[in-house]
Amino acid sequence: MTIKAYSIEGNGTFAQDVPAFAAAIRGAGAEIVLVPGVSRAKRSMPAAAMRAGAAIDTNVVAVQAEGDKLTVQRWAYRQRILTAFTRVARPWVILVDPSLFGDVCAQLGVTAEPMPSGAAVETRTTVNGVVAAGKGGESTIKPDSPLLFVAGAGWTKKQADGAAHLDEAAATITGFLAKSGASLGSSKSLVDMPEAAAAFSFMSHMNQVGQTGSTPRHAKGLATCCHGEEPHVVGWRFVNERRAVNLDANCGWAQGKTDVLYVADAFAVMKKVNELL
Ligand SMILES: Cc1cc2nc3c(=O)[nH]c(=O)nc-3n(C[C@H](O)[C@H](O)[C@H](O)COP(=O)(O)OP(=O)(O)OC[C@H]3O[C@@H](n4cnc5c(N)ncnc54)[C@H](O)[C@@H]3O)c2cc1C
Repeated sequence: MTIKAYSIEGNGTFAQDVPAFAAAIRGAGAEIVLVPGVSRAKRSMPAAAMRAGAAIDTNVVAVQAEGDKLTVQRWAYRQRILTAFTRVARPWVILVDPSLFGDVCAQLGVTAEPMPSGAAVETRTTVNGVVAAGKGGESTIKPDSPLLFVAGAGWTKKQADGAAHLDEAAATITGFLAKSGASLGSSKSLVDMPEAAAAFSFMSHMNQVGQTGSTPRHAKGLATCCHGEEPHVVGWRFVNERRAVNLDANCGWAQGKTDVLYVADAFAVMKKVNELL
């Protein structure tokens, strides 16, 4: 069984990536094509596989090879059932969970090469120029970042001096995001707070993590000024390395929900962290 692994770096558009990825699948000449399931691959690889006449599976967490048979594992029903299956269709493109891609390649004895790019773009659109393109705001949601930084409602609360410091909080949070490249998550309380909306214009309900929010898959997470209540922390179920900063030694994070809880003022801690970065 021939297996080829490709790594994927940087950004690309759907229009450019689909023909390039399809050419790579065809050009690989392999029965199995392994790719890390980063957001760029998830966006364009299914269409590329279809063009190349390949089968594809995403969100794979384990791959086992036995002779000519390859078995993969994937969670179903919102991580309630772990399924194992195989396919006879070839080529078979397998998008492996990005944090496990290196281990899977090592286990199968393959070395990942950078995904070839630069295939001719098939489009009937001719760009004559760009007229007054708005810059748009920078996205604070970065699914491929190794770190999730969660800001909770505590950033908006009255502090030891009896006053709230919204602008200082916003500058500290955005300063950390710019220096660390972390993805920004939030608690429901913070994104629901109209009085914080102006100062925290860089976040929206899209940032909310939890039962009624998102369930991101970053390798590490740092929660600040967030109480760590269960409806929020269920959104952390794929974040394995966790730390939290909270003034309250009895907050939810202290109830076995984080590896390390710093009982400290997050304003002071994050300012120091920003200085050190
Ligand atoms: C059906 C349902 C669904 C829900 N879904 C979600 C969801 O998807 N996501 C979600 O987040 N919540 C959800 N919630 C709400 C959740 O239960 C909590 O109310 C919410 O997460 C609390 O947000 P918070 O921790 O930011 O705010 P708070 O509970 O107000 O906590 C603020 C924390 O900040 C700390 N703090 C204050 N100042 C500082 C400082 N200077 N330094 C350090 N720490 C400080 C305080 O000690 C406190 O622990 C849901 C609730 C229900 C009922």
